[in-house]
Amino acid sequence: MDCIFCKIIKKEIPAEFLYEDDLVVAFKDIGPIAPVHILVIPKDHIESIVDLTSDQEKLAGRLVLTARNLANQLGISPNGYKLLFRVGMHGGQEVPHVHLHLIGGAPLSENIHPL
Ligand code: AMP
Ligand code: ZN
Repeated sequence: MDCIFCKIIKKEIPAEFLYEDDLVVAFKDIGPIAPVHILVIPKDHIESIVDLTSDQEKLAGRLVLTARNLANQLGISPNGYKLLFRVGMHGGQEVPHVHLHLIGGAPLSENIHPL
């Protein structure tokens, strides 16, 4: 499987990990657009939110709560942050393995960071 995020999960290519459990891992985005820019991804290869099945509710919740917990731990929650799933071509998704962006630590201008 030639998926860059699967390779990160298998530790075949390096990443700065912040969290790992039975369902998800979190690591720093290699091209941060804010002081905090973390990706939370499922350990299973799921291409996009489109491919999530109804029996993956627990995984979907784990992705969101992991991002929330990391934001709390990093102290960015009082000022707020952004959580973003890109989905497919129109969503601008570049890596075909589900990932939740946690972006914060500074005011996010939609003009500077057109997410
Ligand atoms: P998206 O455009 O939503 O598909 O986002 C893909 C994200 O993955 C981008 O923000 C990239 O900077 C990030 N990314 C790509 N390769 C790596 C990598 N090897 N390690 C960490 N983040 C990566
Ligand atoms: Zn993958």
